[in-house]
Amino acid sequence: MYSKVSKDSCIVQKYGGTSVANKERIYDVAERVVGLYNEGWRKIALVVSAQSGKTNELIQQILDINPTPPWDAYDMALAAGEQISVALMSAAIQRLGVQVAPFLGFQIGILTDEFHSKARIKSINTDPIFKAWKQGKVCVIAGFQGINEANEITTLGRGGSDTSAVALAVALNAEFCEINTDVDGVFTTDPRIVETASLIKELDFESALEMASLGSKVLHPRCVELGKKYNLPLIVRNSFKKNEDERTIVMNLDHINASKQFELESPVVSSVTLDEGILRVNVKNIKSSHSISKLFSTISDLGVNVDIIIFNKVDETSFKVGFTVAKSDKELVQKGIALLKQDPDFSDISVDISADFSKVSVVGVGMRSVHGVASRTFKALEAAKIDIKMVSTSEIKISCVVPQKSGKDAVKVLHKEFIKN
Ligand code: ADP
Ligand code: ASP
Ligand code: MG
Repeated sequence: MYSKVSKDSCIVQKYGGTSVANKERIYDVAERVVGLYNEGWRKIALVVSAQSGKTNELIQQILDINPTPPWDAYDMALAAGEQISVALMSAAIQRLGVQVAPFLGFQIGILTDEFHSKARIKSINTDPIFKAWKQGKVCVIAGFQGINEANEITTLGRGGSDTSAVALAVALNAEFCEINTDVDGVFTTDPRIVETASLIKELDFESALEMASLGSKVLHPRCVELGKKYNLPLIVRNSFKKNEDERTIVMNLDHINASKQFELESPVVSSVTLDEGILRVNVKNIKSSHSISKLFSTISDLGVNVDIIIFNKVDETSFKVGFTVAKSDKELVQKGIALLKQDPDFSDISVDISADFSKVSVVGVGMRSVHGVASRTFKALEAAKIDIKMVSTSEIKISCVVPQKSGKDAVKVLHKEFIKN
């Protein structure tokens, strides 16, 4: 890829948690970056994540002190992981003889909205970056964090460093954004679950977005959204390997040439995803069907995204609703339920919130023109004796909520059914 871009272009590279996990990994990355610098690229911006495990450790630390901490303090704790990585990476690059400019989010004005732990980036001030480049420095930037109008540290949601990198690449007018991770690229399913999963070398934004939203961790959904919106290709590659051919390019479908498009569109299902980060919420004894909108508006006003919904009438005066949300929204859902209980229609509700479920999905743009995918999905899961608790479909995906203990088996079964053994 680098052989195709001019030395005047900006290079934006993101390194994830495993890519900066220890001293050796940090030196590896630093050497690669210094190599590019010495070959003549002078506009290099690195975005780094917290070292693997660090963000979880910080979450545990603060929740151990107070299970419901102030959101601004919570985000401040989480953002600390990326701060450490920026400092370590900057030190490593400078040791190899190249000057660096380390930046936390607020130092390059990564301005976000007010929603802590799921903030969206509004703007970035690239002036300090251009200034540092003029001085011959490599910029090292903290992913995952920003600052809101109230001057509080915000974070972008788990896995959000990908989004920081793509937003930066857009703001800097880069030709692409490189996401370096611990696998070779985007596969037909998680290669840690199915060893025979294949690398998808070229992937359209739409499928990538669906995969990311449905739980394939390798790309943060909002980074794909941004790539799509600004038509900025994403190169996903393994930071442990030198070979530049083993990678995935996520790009606009029009850029994939006609023969490739044929290949891309021919499989009905192109990937299988697993989301282990969901909660199933069951609400029983709702007194009126007209209250359902109130239930969902109360929850959405708190900033919670509801996914699959099932609505049942038990009898004339009793209704029940089941829905799924992200695990990270548990406290907000509980807050919403407490608010609803003050309403007469909800005074007798019984609520069950359970994390014992996962969502497995089959995805493919080819599903648009083929029918029978749902019945094949159900048949395959039934044959493997996997219980299907909820289902949702769109033009290009079918999702099933299954017991968490069966999630990985469900992925294996569906990968075998639709993609390969
Ligand atoms: P990073 O720390 O580099 O951001 P992540 O852990 O967030 O890395 O994402 C990489 C992981 O995503 C891989 O180790 C892999 O287990 C998982 N993954 C899930 N689905 C896929 C997929 N379809 N293709 C590639 N990796 C996937
Ligand atoms: N460190 C953050 C997380 O673990 C952000 C990221 O890795 O992208 O979620
Ligand atoms: Mg990630």
